[in-house]
Amino acid sequence: MVDPSEPVVLADPAVIDGLDYWRTLPIAQQPSWPSADAVAEASAELATLPPLVFAGEVDILRTRLASAARGEAFLLQGGDCAETFVAATANQIRDRVKTILQMAVVLTYGASMPVIKMGRMAGQFAKPRSSDTETRGGVTLPAYRGDIVNGYDFTPESRMADPSRLVRGYHTAASTLNLIRAFTQGGFADLRQVHSWNQGFARNPANVRYEHMAREIDRAIKFMMACGADFEALKRTEFYISHEALLMDYERPLTRIDSRTGTPYGTSAHFLWVGERTRQQDGAHLDFLSRVRNPLGVKLGPSTTPQQVLDLIDKLDPEREPGRLTFITRMGAGRIRDVLPELLETVKASDATPLWVSDPMHGNGLTTPNGYKTRRFDDVVDEVKGFFEAHRSAGTHPGGIHIELTGDDVTECLGGSEQIDEATLATRYESLCDPRLNHMQSLELAFLVAEELGA
Ligand code: PEP
Ligand code: MN
Repeated sequence: MVDPSEPVVLADPAVIDGLDYWRTLPIAQQPSWPSADAVAEASAELATLPPLVFAGEVDILRTRLASAARGEAFLLQGGDCAETFVAATANQIRDRVKTILQMAVVLTYGASMPVIKMGRMAGQFAKPRSSDTETRGGVTLPAYRGDIVNGYDFTPESRMADPSRLVRGYHTAASTLNLIRAFTQGGFADLRQVHSWNQGFARNPANVRYEHMAREIDRAIKFMMACGADFEALKRTEFYISHEALLMDYERPLTRIDSRTGTPYGTSAHFLWVGERTRQQDGAHLDFLSRVRNPLGVKLGPSTTPQQVLDLIDKLDPEREPGRLTFITRMGAGRIRDVLPELLETVKASDATPLWVSDPMHGNGLTTPNGYKTRRFDDVVDEVKGFFEAHRSAGTHPGGIHIELTGDDVTECLGGSEQIDEATLATRYESLCDPRLNHMQSLELAFLVAEELGA
């Protein structure tokens, strides 16, 4: 483990060859900052601030992900599409952590293996957009790129990119992570407590379908207690943070040289991923991420070719290091069964063992006639099923799920046991970006995935 009292040496391009090579490459999805000086000032400030995570924790996560890639663990990654500064409240952070912990208990039971818990939290503030601008009622303004860049309000002032938001993003991430650490180390994650929350879910008449599994979990816990299992140890849990490494003016200054090994680590999160829109083979994002030691994810959409997957492996995991690379597939329920099998066969025939994770959210978007961006719960479930089917045929491990979710009772996705319909979407639609599963839908998904895992 890293000794936190050791001084952290700042990454310096003169010291680490190539760490700034990305600056010479084409780069997608960056904001137009109003002044180069202002963004340089914000980046310089970030470079003086402490790392959010320690390199030693990042290394432990890599070993956890390696076991998932070998088929001995399962990854649960979840959180908002876009975190916002105002929603970084104690209650909202608590409820998201609680939802992830509740899902993890169900998945652990279904998989009979450890579940790695990871939030899209404490840094998921920057969003790629399909257009640089947005037009409403004849007025065109810059698109909202996430709270770390500009404001959501549709006014010229708010939509102007503001570099001071980079620093606010860091501090919001720090306080979010602090609370996550407190909850997951301080007793909130106690297995018996999390299980009792799940019993509440299964007692709801809408969820009778899941009562049987909840009872089985209850018996398993009672059995463990009777055997004298160490419930003190089960009061705490590891919890990792992750986000899309999109905004280079945030990621680069938070990259530090590990004093143990002299190698660079992104210290904005344990796990960083590249989005579907920024994974160009010769682009800036891949070049930069290829040079940090963190475990990395890459989103793979339905147009991904086998050759692209092999190229990504060569670029990001040239050493074929266990746990280094995770492919997060987001094909859409209608495409997953056509596209994934060939990719799995290609990788199987190579010398790489990436972790495969299903994001059943981003390929299943639709807009309702009344104008809401939504997703159908049934499509989400169907994509996960297609993911499991493809892995069963290929003999590979379906290693995790990546979900946009919240602990709140929002109405953003259609369906689920509460049967949210198009008219209901308007009652509590809060996401500024993509629609999330609410607390109940998230738990329901966990029970359904647990059934797949146990099958
Ligand atoms: C996201 O995860 O919010 C996202 C934008 O995903 P993708 O890059 O897969 O479209
Ligand atoms: Mn999203």
